[in-house]
Amino acid sequence: MAASPSSISLPAELRPADGRFGSGPSKVRPEAVKALEARALDYMGTSHRRTGVRSVVGRLRAAMTELFGLGDGWEVVLGNGGSTGFWDAAAFSMIERRAQHLAFGEFSEKFSAVTAAAPHLEDPVVITAPYGSHPTPEPDAGIDVYALTHNETSTGVAMPLAQPQLGPFRQGASPALVLVDATSAAGAMTWDPADVDCYYFAPQKAFAADGGLFIALCSPNAIERIERIDSDGRYKPATLDLAIAARNSRQDQTYNTPALATILLTLETAEWMLDGGGLAWAASRSAASSSSIYDWAAARDFASPFVADPQMRSPVVCTIDFDGVSADDIAAALRANDIIDTEGYRKLGRNQLRIAAFPAIDPIDAEALTACIDYIVERL
Ligand SMILES: *Cc1c(COP(=O)(O)O)cnc(C)c1O
Repeated sequence: MAASPSSISLPAELRPADGRFGSGPSKVRPEAVKALEARALDYMGTSHRRTGVRSVVGRLRAAMTELFGLGDGWEVVLGNGGSTGFWDAAAFSMIERRAQHLAFGEFSEKFSAVTAAAPHLEDPVVITAPYGSHPTPEPDAGIDVYALTHNETSTGVAMPLAQPQLGPFRQGASPALVLVDATSAAGAMTWDPADVDCYYFAPQKAFAADGGLFIALCSPNAIERIERIDSDGRYKPATLDLAIAARNSRQDQTYNTPALATILLTLETAEWMLDGGGLAWAASRSAASSSSIYDWAAARDFASPFVADPQMRSPVVCTIDFDGVSADDIAAALRANDIIDTEGYRKLGRNQLRIAAFPAIDPIDAEALTACIDYIVERL
């Protein structure tokens, strides 16, 4: 007889050491929380205008520059509002007239809705692809920002940032910019700054920190654009003004008060990645976890990767379809055993689990999770 999900008890030897597999907010390393505790008295609860906090912001900016191999003239711009806030800021401060969006899931669609609603911008060009795949950008002289998403967290699709056909449009007197939403990819996937003008993210995903902050890595062309729009005198709310954010960031500050814990946790992860061997090392942890999950799904007749094309499968967020067994029941049984946040993305409406494979997650735990799912499916 089939067991009810919550009555299934996983044997201790099967369980992962850490049961957090959510795609964001995601597992925060206990070591990072310890590091935060160590700064309970001299950092937490102190002024963000003084050297204690500003030196941490400065280290964070330096760590990002090193981790991503940013060249001369690149700037690390910080501000409040997370990635969603950054979309609004980009609409005011980076898009001149018209953006082209690649929309292939919840997050990329949301950014396209922002520029479509902005009264000072022309209607964007929105190129879509069925969920589970991604479109490619189409060069167009009337476009000044190409909006890409490195990893569409809602569907588990990753896309390459090298788009050579855009090359000619990124040169000359008024070069088009490539903006990349890297919220769940940054720190977990390699990329080449030569392909990108602005790589932005919030640190509650691959950076294993907390939300509320945006970090935007800006090329010289991106900075030039921000400054040109600023000098053109367009109205911009101050909290969404990237010229103000850039000026504050150069002073290792933010325009208004940031969450200090988020900044320290992000630095902790960035330095952990650098100590481990850098971005390639961090990405290899994600690749190890995700390939074990995809390989496992391919070998089971009740499971299969949702993303049909292996090239498009995300190395950081695995979407796995189930057949003949309820994914919700599996997620409920896992949750009853403290293995949490594996539920599928509601709006996709599939019989699916979504499992994060961020660098902070131990690849051994990812493998243990698959053994736990096997155990549960046998009993459901
Ligand atoms: C989570 C996520 C966002 C939204 O991030 P917030 O910090 O909550 O605004 C945007 N884009 C992608 C790809 C995401 O995964």
